Amino acid sequence: MTDYPTLYLSIGGTNLSNEGRDAVNVINPATGETIGSVPHATAADLDAALDNAAKGFKSWRNTPADKRAATLNKAAALIRERAGEIAVSLTLEQGKPLAEAKGEIIYSAMLLEFYAGEIKRIYGRTLVRPEGQRVEVQYHPVGPVAGFAAWNFPALNVMRKIGGALAAGCSTIVKPSEETPATGLALVQALIDAGVPGDAVQCVFGVPDDVSRHLLASPIIRKITFTGSTAVGKHLAKLAADDLKIATMELGGHGPVLVFDDVDIDKTLDTMVAAKYRNAGQVCVSPTRFLVHESKFEQFRDGFIARAEKIKVGNGMEDGTQMGPMASERGPDGIARKIADAVEKGAKLGTGGERIGNQGYFYQPSVLSEVPTDAIIMNEEPFGPIALINPMAGEEAMIEEANRLPYGLAAYAWTNDPARRRRLAAEVEAGMLAINSAGVSAVDAPFGGVKWSGYGSEDGREGVMACMVPKTVHES
Ligand code: NAD
Repeated sequence: MTDYPTLYLSIGGTNLSNEGRDAVNVINPATGETIGSVPHATAADLDAALDNAAKGFKSWRNTPADKRAATLNKAAALIRERAGEIAVSLTLEQGKPLAEAKGEIIYSAMLLEFYAGEIKRIYGRTLVRPEGQRVEVQYHPVGPVAGFAAWNFPALNVMRKIGGALAAGCSTIVKPSEETPATGLALVQALIDAGVPGDAVQCVFGVPDDVSRHLLASPIIRKITFTGSTAVGKHLAKLAADDLKIATMELGGHGPVLVFDDVDIDKTLDTMVAAKYRNAGQVCVSPTRFLVHESKFEQFRDGFIARAEKIKVGNGMEDGTQMGPMASERGPDGIARKIADAVEKGAKLGTGGERIGNQGYFYQPSVLSEVPTDAIIMNEEPFGPIALINPMAGEEAMIEEANRLPYGLAAYAWTNDPARRRRLAAEVEAGMLAINSAGVSAVDAPFGGVKWSGYGSEDGREGVMACMVPKTVHES
């Protein structure tokens, strides 16, 4: 027996079980054991969800903003109250340490609270003409939103899909990952329990491509929001384009970290090693390519390896675990292939490079250095516990390497030179740049990428505005 809950679809406020529906197993990545079964929505279920979303939009958009805000705040309070219990589901289905899971759930509640506050501050504007005419710029919710969330942050990804949309007055249908379904479902349940109508927030599961094709084929859906790989993002953006739906795409990255020679290397390492192995490296903003000034390279590499080797890897449910398993079987296999390719091309394996044990999907915190740019891992997001550390001649070379890839999500720089900080802020191609820190996310600041890392923002005022469209009323 585990504490893992029974899963269901939430359609129109009704909970639909896997009876009479296809279902897939949910696996605990720490043990490889089946812990649950997630029902797949039928085509008729998805049609019902679409009809509900159309109805839900009409009523929720006309609910006054302060009432919507109060309901969302109540849901946030429920999520906080239930955080301990939801965190257990999150760790069981995704693997990250329990404390990290709880932190993610509390952060999701904070994001909802921010959106609830922000929606009361969406002002239009009035342009008054000398002749007495007026032009009024109003902001309206875009319409029903379909959200597709990835498994790496089962709570936060889902809240990013639905929080801003619900605040804006949109109805939402969210499909959390089938690999981590319980957490997103628990957030949806908290929203319903707090008073969000069951046709304004719905939760479905299925074969991802079937569900997205079905929902995106409907003219009812006016916006799509997706977190996941660039390949799937491009595919969904094309489907959205067929009906000119608005899209927010939060896709992959390949975070460069520019380390200059004027910083305290130990302090830099303490921060960045923790950031690298957080969530076993399965983070879209993970620091990945460490571009270190050549005068500090050896000190940095050796310090990184020493710290990586001290990380306690284990079951996320156990006290003291700092890094859990990778979330699925695909993880260790993918990393192992990329490391083998890099080593074959001349990279040096400083530590790690092996799967741990024969149960679950554990992988050693790993470090590669002097990695040639033609290695696959220098070009494709590794999405695992691996740091790539290369010596660099100076600022110009570092910026060139940082911008070499088509990705532009998070970038990091460590320097105390104010003029250089300004230059980096201007020249590094990224949606977020953290200077002398690992923090690139805040509920009140936009989060999103450029180039192949996607478009549109979540969080911050931008996260609400991304779900609204202007309407200009000209009055004579
Ligand atoms: P993926 O893009 O195939 O899947 C990501 C999520 O999207 C999954 O939860 C999946 O259920 C869903 N999905 C997949 N195809 C879909 C479709 N056609 N319609 C709707 N939803 C769909 O990625 P993956 O196989 O889970 O991981 C592969 C790579 O994707 C990773 O190595 C990483 O580079 C990237 N990734 C990025 C993020 C991120 O936070 N940006 C998250 C997960 C994965």
